Amino acid sequence: MKKKKRVVIALGGNALGNTLPEQMTAVKITARAIVDLIEDGCEVVVAHGNGPQVGMVNNAMIALTHEDAEQPNTPLSVCVAMSQAYIGYDLQNALREELLDRGITDIPVATMITQVRVEADDPAFQDPSKPIGKFVDAAQAKIMEEKFHYIMKEDSGRGYRRVVASPRPAEIIEIGTIRTMVDSGDLVIACGGGGIPVVRQGNHLKGASAVIDKDLASCLLAKELDADYLIILTAVEKVALNFGTPEEKWLDQVSVEEAEQYIGEGHFAPGSMLPKVQAAVDFAGSKPGRTALITLLEKSREAVQGKTGTTFHM
Ligand code: ADP
Ligand code: MG
Repeated sequence: MKKKKRVVIALGGNALGNTLPEQMTAVKITARAIVDLIEDGCEVVVAHGNGPQVGMVNNAMIALTHEDAEQPNTPLSVCVAMSQAYIGYDLQNALREELLDRGITDIPVATMITQVRVEADDPAFQDPSKPIGKFVDAAQAKIMEEKFHYIMKEDSGRGYRRVVASPRPAEIIEIGTIRTMVDSGDLVIACGGGGIPVVRQGNHLKGASAVIDKDLASCLLAKELDADYLIILTAVEKVALNFGTPEEKWLDQVSVEEAEQYIGEGHFAPGSMLPKVQAAVDFAGSKPGRTALITLLEKSREAVQGKTGTTFHM
């Protein structure tokens, strides 16, 4: 029997929506795309982002401190954990239903609450850059700095937002369990929101005030599981050079070398396309036979068949 292709899928914001009802609807469409790949003979592992959801949880927990003076503010690592469980719940529920609707009864679905270790001396901690949560005015920003010790930054004339560090993922703590589940044929959701950031203190793992980039965490997951494909699903069908300009050129096949050159030339926006291309290059360049793909959720089946998307190879 032909060995199944192992595929790690990194779901972007548009696969999950921005609100509770949006997510309920979005996961149904996402589940269809994922089960299409399973029907095509892929062994799928799902990772995902959590931008809007972690902001929502964080704001809800801040509101709790206003209602009840006894409640301390909730650490960001705990907010990431809550977002993982909430998104995992909706996704695993939708995937289970889609599998059963297609008569597939032998693939159990489960979410792994995943901790991802980062280095305490990662330079990202000295330069928090990732904005999370809602915009506030200068007076509210000052209160949040004083009350919660948040770092607030003015964001292009739109108000102030909390910024947090985005350190590099160094190790997936639960990788052994994830591998066992995937090897036994389960459909696993892992590394949600880039994973719960933790730093090692002897045997203790201490939650870190950070949000790990989900594309980089998905890349580490794909390497650790010796996947054949890393598929990053986002809001564009392909990656472009000179994006958004009259000289825009959509890319089909890119070698690791070419991609590194394009990164150097500044074609990919930091915080959006750059981490995706970096993750794609890292994965495709890590071992012969590994392919990375960036495309739209709705195009994932065609992209795996080589018909669309931007493909990265050695
Ligand atoms: P996700 O939620 O999937 O992580 P992001 O918004 O972070 O999505 O990143 C995807 C976005 O990156 C695209 O919608 C596009 O607007 C933007 N982008 C920036 N540079 C490029 C580029 N060179 N080619 C294609 N898209 C780009
Ligand atoms: Mg993103």
